[in-house]
Amino acid sequence: METKCRLCPVECGADRSIQCGACGADNTVRVAKYGLHPFEEPCISAKYGSGTVFFSGCALRCVFCQNYKISRAAAGEAYDAKSLARIFRELEEQGAENINLVTASHYVPQLLQAFREYKPKIPVVYNTHSYEKLEVLQALDKYIDVYLPDMKYFSPKISARYTGKSNYFEYASRAVEFMARRECEFDGEKMVRGCIVRHLILPLCTDDSLKIVQWFADLRSPAYFSLMGQYTPCGDIENFPELKRRITPREYKKVRDFVFDCGIERLFLQKLEAADSRFIPDFSADTKTLF
Ligand code: SF4
Repeated sequence: METKCRLCPVECGADRSIQCGACGADNTVRVAKYGLHPFEEPCISAKYGSGTVFFSGCALRCVFCQNYKISRAAAGEAYDAKSLARIFRELEEQGAENINLVTASHYVPQLLQAFREYKPKIPVVYNTHSYEKLEVLQALDKYIDVYLPDMKYFSPKISARYTGKSNYFEYASRAVEFMARRECEFDGEKMVRGCIVRHLILPLCTDDSLKIVQWFADLRSPAYFSLMGQYTPCGDIENFPELKRRITPREYKKVRDFVFDCGIERLFLQKLEAADSRFIPDFSADTKTLF
């Protein structure tokens, strides 16, 4: 049996039965926190909040990650397939609108086991940085109702600068194209099936944002586009002076106007006022709730 992990495009080859890979994860699933999230897109958080499960570790590792504390380390509690399935049930009982799996791509084999234990009765949302292999997404596809992929970088130079990976767009574009094919369905205001492609505008990166918007428009997919202006300086940005400020109203307007010019109508716009650390979950161990 293959023991070297090649689950994600990093292909670091770690034997996760004895060590952590470049994503910071070994074979034990670690969940940093879970709970009801009121600040996702309105059709995801809906009335009672999205039942969000934050997994520890990450294969992409953006320097400005707003979940930096949990994306870099094997933080949080250990779970096996049965106890992960118990989290799904618990969130359902709390009234969650859906089960929202955040950055879980390095745990896909364990997720498949958890879904065989228990398939939630509410929609399952797959919330990803999109640095994914297509065959891994395809294996998970039958368990996912709503895709929530980020489309972060177009330029290999920018993705290399902020993640160390110049091939981000190569993988993410294929992954998002696959996820964005899904037709959207709603139950009232709540999305129960479909895809929302998110893009976060970064300081000094508006030209890259325009290329992503154009790329998305050219897909002509049934997916929604969510333009996010919430960038908040976070993470390990000491050596990245351009990342030490929020985006300006002018940067936001430039990208937003281009979204309109491209005729993208299935759209969520996150206002600049959302750029506040109060909207970032509190990952300290001593609080039970996300905010
Ligand atoms: S999922 Fe983690 S261990 Fe596996 S190849 Fe990617 S970075 Fe390496």
